[in-house]
Amino acid sequence: SKDNGRNRFTYFTASMQEAAQARMAISNELRRAIDDDQLAVHFQPIIDMASGQIRKAEALVRWLHPARGPVSPVDFIPIAEHTGQIVTIGNWVFRKALAHARRWRRVDRQLTVNVNVSPAQFYHTNGENCRHWLADHSFDTGGGTGPPEVGIEITEGLLLASNSAVMKQLLAFQQAGIKISLDDFGTGYSSLSYLRKFNLDYLKIDKSFVYNLEHDAANVALCEAIIVMAHKLGLEVIAEGVETEQQYDILRRAGCDYGQGFLFGEPLPPDAFEALLHGPPLL
Ligand code: C2E
Ligand code: CA
Ligand code: CA
Ligand code: CA
Repeated sequence: SKDNGRNRFTYFTASMQEAAQARMAISNELRRAIDDDQLAVHFQPIIDMASGQIRKAEALVRWLHPARGPVSPVDFIPIAEHTGQIVTIGNWVFRKALAHARRWRRVDRQLTVNVNVSPAQFYHTNGENCRHWLADHSFDTGGGTGPPEVGIEITEGLLLASNSAVMKQLLAFQQAGIKISLDDFGTGYSSLSYLRKFNLDYLKIDKSFVYNLEHDAANVALCEAIIVMAHKLGLEVIAEGVETEQQYDILRRAGCDYGQGFLFGEPLPPDAFEALLHGPPLL
């Protein structure tokens, strides 16, 4: 009835307003979080599927809110992207990750630390932000003794919306020797054409394909096909969200190069991650 319609309308308006207020609160508190040292970077191991050795780490931001407790990046990164705060946060994460990567390289010449770079960081003053990273730090890009010390992870959305500024920026990263991983592959508005258009280095199979892999023949088929395709295009494959021995087995037999997930280790504070580096292979 009409009444129902009006009630529903009122209901949605109220909840939308609440959601907007909640976003605003998060955004305001996030500003303080940056100033008051409430953010931290954790590191999750990425292993070579064949040897079980740690080869990479993904840097993941953490927010320990003084009253709310830990706030998931899923809940504040999208807001930070919307407000532009992601530029400040992203720069901060990148500097932290690079500093740790430098230290850990003395323990392990093979280690690369991957940092998530949000599309907003590419668009910020035409990628000036990212160019600063390249100019401000003289990267250890391997130089024959190992892989580059840092890599970046980007998402499909950035490539779909690709313009010449984004293309130029990606090229600048690659010319600086920084490897690019395509994150969350298979989610989003997948178009395979960008795999041809961009010369990417790694493809990360989204964890939704790995989840329940041992009980889902369709996901096994998809993972196998993605791995074959990626290899033919010259990309290496990282599987995300590996939680069980069986998932690890299936992926390794399918030729997956790297694995990341709770089976190998969760994201850890820098000291705990460093302890892993000194320890035996994870599997
Ligand atoms: P992502 O880039 O896909 O990162 C992987 C996420 O999967 C992380 O969630 C990680 O903790 C989680 N994960 C790892 N292993 C497993 C597993 O075995 N099972 C399951 N279910 N999950 C696993 P997290 O840390 O909550 O981060 C969520 C998202 O927030 C990230 O997804 C990324 O999109 C974003 N994010 C996190 N840190 C940053 C950052 O510094 N910058 C930007 N731009 N985005 C970030
Ligand atoms: Ca990522
Ligand atoms: Ca991912
Ligand atoms: Ca994700």
